[in-house]
Amino acid sequence: MRTDILGVGFDNLTLDEAAAAGAALVEADGFHYAVTPNPEFLLTAKRDDTFHRALLGADLVLADGVGVVYSAKILGRPLKGKVPGIDFAQRLIAWMAAHGKRLFLLGAKPGVAELAAANLKDKYPGLIVCGTHDGYFQDDGPVVEAIRAAGADVVFVCLGAPKQELWMVKNGPATGAHLMVGLGGSLDVFAG
Ligand code: UDP
Repeated sequence: MRTDILGVGFDNLTLDEAAAAGAALVEADGFHYAVTPNPEFLLTAKRDDTFHRALLGADLVLADGVGVVYSAKILGRPLKGKVPGIDFAQRLIAWMAAHGKRLFLLGAKPGVAELAAANLKDKYPGLIVCGTHDGYFQDDGPVVEAIRAAGADVVFVCLGAPKQELWMVKNGPATGAHLMVGLGGSLDVFAG
């Protein structure tokens, strides 16, 4: 049962529970994707039906910040807490590093994903970053092929909303990855 906040159902999870759920999706057969809506996403979803459906269809819907958590409280359907995408990503990375899972970083300006990869590998010894690609490309095909060829288990898709959510829905299954996470500007943060 999801908690409805302005038309989008959120998973009512703590950060620990969300990280465990993410790990379980990586281990499960097939393709899955996670979204991290903030209040701006909910407004966009009101006027963009394709984006709305992309949010509703996600396997994990995490309350990215206090805005969603406050809205939930005001609506009388409190959530356990916020699960910022960047925190969720770091928990998942720690788990991936310990379990030999392969991470692909997609998005941001040329060079940023490579820098993020280097920083993350320093911080999480054992982490396998199996590939990177910037977020300014015309054709999806070569990017899908790069992810598939890299044997990625998880892809962080950092193209901004709603682009990243639509990209995951359209291209995720063909990549062979088990989990994609839409993470907005996170690669810029990881790149420092
Ligand atoms: N971006 C991209 N391709 C695009 C548009 C944006 O890779 O076509 C990247 C941009 O460089 C930035 C991220 O997507 O790294 C979006 O960051 P923003 O802070 O706008 O996203 P938010 O976290 O607010 O969703």
